[in-house]
Amino acid sequence: MGLIVQKYGGTSVGSTERIRNVARRVARFHREGHQLVVVPSAMSGETNRLLALAKDLSPNPDPRELDVVAATGEQVTIGLLAIALHHLGVKAKSYTGGQVRVLTDSAFTKARILKIDEERIRADLAEGTVVIVAGFQGVDGDGNITTLGRGGSDTSGVALAAALAADECQIYTDVDGVYTADPRIVPEARRLDRITFEEMLEMASLGSKVLQIRSVEFAGKYKVKLRVLSSFEDPDSTSNGTLITFEENDTMEQAIISGIAFNRDEAKISLMGVEDRPGVAYAILGPIAAANVDVDMIVQNIGASGHTDFSFTVNRGEYQKALDVLEQEKNTGFAAREIIGDNKICKVSLVGIGMRSHVGIAAKMFKSLAEEGINIQMISTSEIKTSVVIDEKYLELAVRVLHRAFELEQAPKVA
Ligand code: ADP
Ligand code: ASP
Ligand code: MG
Repeated sequence: MGLIVQKYGGTSVGSTERIRNVARRVARFHREGHQLVVVPSAMSGETNRLLALAKDLSPNPDPRELDVVAATGEQVTIGLLAIALHHLGVKAKSYTGGQVRVLTDSAFTKARILKIDEERIRADLAEGTVVIVAGFQGVDGDGNITTLGRGGSDTSGVALAAALAADECQIYTDVDGVYTADPRIVPEARRLDRITFEEMLEMASLGSKVLQIRSVEFAGKYKVKLRVLSSFEDPDSTSNGTLITFEENDTMEQAIISGIAFNRDEAKISLMGVEDRPGVAYAILGPIAAANVDVDMIVQNIGASGHTDFSFTVNRGEYQKALDVLEQEKNTGFAAREIIGDNKICKVSLVGIGMRSHVGIAAKMFKSLAEEGINIQMISTSEIKTSVVIDEKYLELAVRVLHRAFELEQAPKVA
């Protein structure tokens, strides 16, 4: 018996039938004597629908009002889930982010949680009530409704688990755990029983949207026991999904590569023939940062005869903004022969803590891609990951080829 936070994603609450199933699962845990806080997302497709309504009225809606609209998706599911639980005879009460007081900063559409008031939740739990808190939303210090960025219900769940010192945070979704690669792209991908926190952090930041990156960061900071599970399995199934672990012990399955992540949401900008002088990188990227555009990979070639080429990647949604900034700065901040953009690229990454102790991983990756005629445009490495930028049309081929080359469909041998 313990305190469990259960987060249910959009497909898991995508219809009244699915909500009924969630209620049955929650009721079962409740019957077993657990205290439960349940965090639903909006019904699948609903957040997209709401944002599209706003975009239909204005190409550039005010972010404050966008959050007012987007946050309604979760208000529907908390109420429906409470009603479904009541129908099963379970005491339940729903709260919006503002009612609990999930206090956030004022960065509309990508707010960060600062603090969660738990007294009200604790009082309800103490009297055996299931507490349902809307995911994805909070309220800033002035009482404005905020949202936490796409996929933000994961972060709501983990933050509530941290605030309540819950025994476990269970993320229920439409797959039964974290796989070696997105099972929708690689059918033979294998579910991992465990993945280290560091690897999960890399996978999430490199594009595996099974968990929002901030939820993983939260789990790491507050040592929340985090598990990814399927809401589609029989509530009595014994599957334990995937546990995010904080320790690497010797008896754990030790793969060199744990998984492959990819991100389609990328664009590349290259400045050809820029002057090769101190301060030029700053002259280019300073204005980009000032325009609040995140830069991911950066590559500068070796200079020749006083000139060099400089490339970087940005989020595809910010591609045009970045190009506009550079056009404005050109010839004042820096000089370049030509600025070339490509928003049809993607990033594919290998992730694994075993990379720390094994050589030749990158070489094997490059060889596998070369054999398929896939050209690598950029490379970036860190201690536990190797990423390449390639043409978007090769994304699926690249992920499958690498999955096969590193034999990720097979369980690693126990060391
Ligand atoms: P939810 O609505 O439940 O939050 P998401 O769509 O946000 O669900 O996340 C679950 C999806 O993440 C899966 O359906 C799967 O396609 C995708 N995914 C990407 N990478 C992975 C991975 N390595 N393991 C499992 N699922 C992954
Ligand atoms: N409903 C929100 C979204 O679609 C939050 C979430 O699902 O986690 O992004
Ligand atoms: Mg999600």
